[in-house]
Amino acid sequence: MVKNGSSLDKLICTKCGKGYLATEIKRMCDCGKVLFPVYNLEKAKETLSKNTMNKRRYNIWRMTEIMPVKDPTFYYSLGEGWTPILHLKNLGEELGLKNLFLKDEGLNPTGTFKSRGLCAAVSKAIELGVKEFVIPSAGNAGAALSAYAARAGRKAHVFVPKDAPELTIKEIRAMGADLVLVDGLITDAGKLAKEESEKHGWFDVSTLKEPYRVEGKKTMGLELAEQFDWSLPDVIIYPTGGGTGIVGMWKAFKELEQLGMIEGPFPRMISVQSSGCAPIIKAFREGKEHAEYWENANTIAAGLRVPAAIGDYLILKAIRESKGTAIDVSDVQIKASMVNLAKKEGIMACPEAAATVASLEKLIETGFLGSKDKIVLFSTGSGLTTPNQW
Ligand SMILES: *Cc1c(COP(=O)(O)O)cnc(C)c1O
Ligand SMILES: [Zn+2]
Repeated sequence: MVKNGSSLDKLICTKCGKGYLATEIKRMCDCGKVLFPVYNLEKAKETLSKNTMNKRRYNIWRMTEIMPVKDPTFYYSLGEGWTPILHLKNLGEELGLKNLFLKDEGLNPTGTFKSRGLCAAVSKAIELGVKEFVIPSAGNAGAALSAYAARAGRKAHVFVPKDAPELTIKEIRAMGADLVLVDGLITDAGKLAKEESEKHGWFDVSTLKEPYRVEGKKTMGLELAEQFDWSLPDVIIYPTGGGTGIVGMWKAFKELEQLGMIEGPFPRMISVQSSGCAPIIKAFREGKEHAEYWENANTIAAGLRVPAAIGDYLILKAIRESKGTAIDVSDVQIKASMVNLAKKEGIMACPEAAATVASLEKLIETGFLGSKDKIVLFSTGSGLTTPNQW
């Protein structure tokens, strides 16, 4: 273990720029928009550089200087992070892509990358004195919160749509969380969770409605830079729901650049959604800053069934700043891609992850991807978490 510590400085609103103390519990800006933790990067530089990496532990706290928890006794870890990047040689050959890679987030605890964000959020919230948690979730985030709350000996209240994947529902129950099945979508679960949170004083860890989940997701970007020897790929393809992953990685790249650890240009960020729920894709095509609510959202990729995202403007900004794009794929294409990925590469990914594979053909057709581009697909979860979806 290296001695360094977090250089967390304050919280800043991503919309109006208002600053807040990071020593107090503050979920969102008074203007209603998303708060980001900001670090004293000059101070972080004193101990954090490419040369100081080899002595550190391989988990999400690896770059402690730019992670929010100050006191390591509050790291409630289950072995999350440092997932492998696999070269997809067989699938790449089929598609004519020489440098096609996949980051396998299915190897995280609870089987999805949600564990990164909830690990960071639960740890930081407990450091700040939080006792009890609540979350609305399509399933995976609820399972991850339940796991970290159990690990920390705290109570979690989880609101999920009643048609969420069956295994995830069992998992949440097994972890001892208080589970409420909601007749509706994640946005309906969100309304209920908010009411209960206000009534009982539970801490609501909804996507981007508190400042620290994004810091856990940010570690995917930190790892990508390090695993590719500090030279980022040309393209990142990411299945987008609430958007913390894409937004977190974009934040990671900017911080690493300011720390002098990487240089631009940054990867083109591609957001993939299902045609049954594609609010971000529509807003991107229409040149809008915010996305409209998506009516009758329906897809087998539960994590992508997010009809409205609080961080829509941040997702769209990352896509545009990076010269990326946004693309939707059908559930039929998603299912076919799940099978194809499993057969060609031995990776059983969840439908959300398969959506990134499904997007490749169209992106090649339109000329957005070149045969030599270094491309990373984010496989956000294991197919074993969603047996009733395939
Ligand atoms: C939540 C989830 C997503 C969407 O992630 P965001 O970062 O919120 O956009 C994608 N895949 C899986 C498996 C998920 O659980
Ligand atoms: Zn604000």
